[in-house]
Amino acid sequence: MYQTPRPLGPPPNYTARRAVAATGAVLVLYLFFRIVSSFTGDDGGEERLSAETTTSTSTTVVALETPPACEYLDEQSIFADEADWARTIVDTAYALPEAYEPPDLVSASGAGYSAEFRVRSLVIDDLDALRNAIIAADVPEVALLAAYRTIEDQEALFALREDELGFADAAKGTARAGHSEHHLGTTVDFRPIGATDVDQSFGDTATGQWLEDHSWEYGFVISYPEGQEAVTCYKYEPWHYRYVGRELAADIQASGLTLREYLWHWEVTGTPPGASTSAVTSSTVAGAADESDTGDTAG
Ligand SMILES: [Zn+2]
Repeated sequence: MYQTPRPLGPPPNYTARRAVAATGAVLVLYLFFRIVSSFTGDDGGEERLSAETTTSTSTTVVALETPPACEYLDEQSIFADEADWARTIVDTAYALPEAYEPPDLVSASGAGYSAEFRVRSLVIDDLDALRNAIIAADVPEVALLAAYRTIEDQEALFALREDELGFADAAKGTARAGHSEHHLGTTVDFRPIGATDVDQSFGDTATGQWLEDHSWEYGFVISYPEGQEAVTCYKYEPWHYRYVGRELAADIQASGLTLREYLWHWEVTGTPPGASTSAVTSSTVAGAADESDTGDTAG
């Protein structure tokens, strides 16, 4: 803090003030000419470099936010609009609003599957492409076991499992009402053709393996991969695939993160993992421009 004591008695010395102001003006002029001359090269190379102003863009990757331990809460997903279908997080903590209903449910027959199942129309083309790719890969084909499920259906399903297994075990394999990705209308459960149900051994079959390796190419992501129970909050489900679109599926695949980790980060930071914030700064630096750290994004 500068606190110039007010002079007592005589009025302020304006002559002295003018002198100070004049000196300031001379200094400003002097600096101006120094800078101009440095740009015109009058002072030689050394000086010119020292006065260069550079504009640099620094990018900072937003630090990954990791999801908390699995908890059974009833938070509402932030991106819960039907238009946010690809990035809506649905897990043991985040639920969809009670009134959530996909607006464009259609029969899965458009993708060559049984008409008793419904998915959002935006899934049809890639679900069909996936089915054709399975055929082209010459691995055994699959049928659907589940697709869109209403919140009421899920409530009944969970109650059944809870009666059978108790809450803790039921919750590791079945979502509570409102917490199932099947409400989105973008998620399907596969089963081997001819089988009435599916279990974890499906993951060891040629088709189960093929799906884990290639489904992302058609926009599908395995939500609950093997060995990730602590992060996904569910047992390994080699049959449960959620459609997020090809672009996002490729990004998720490249990130090496599970879907929950990926979407959790997006939910709490507002940006997908690997996104960076840019800051443009102008600065006067000595010597050559700094060329480090440009455009680095997490892959
Ligand atoms: Zn499922």
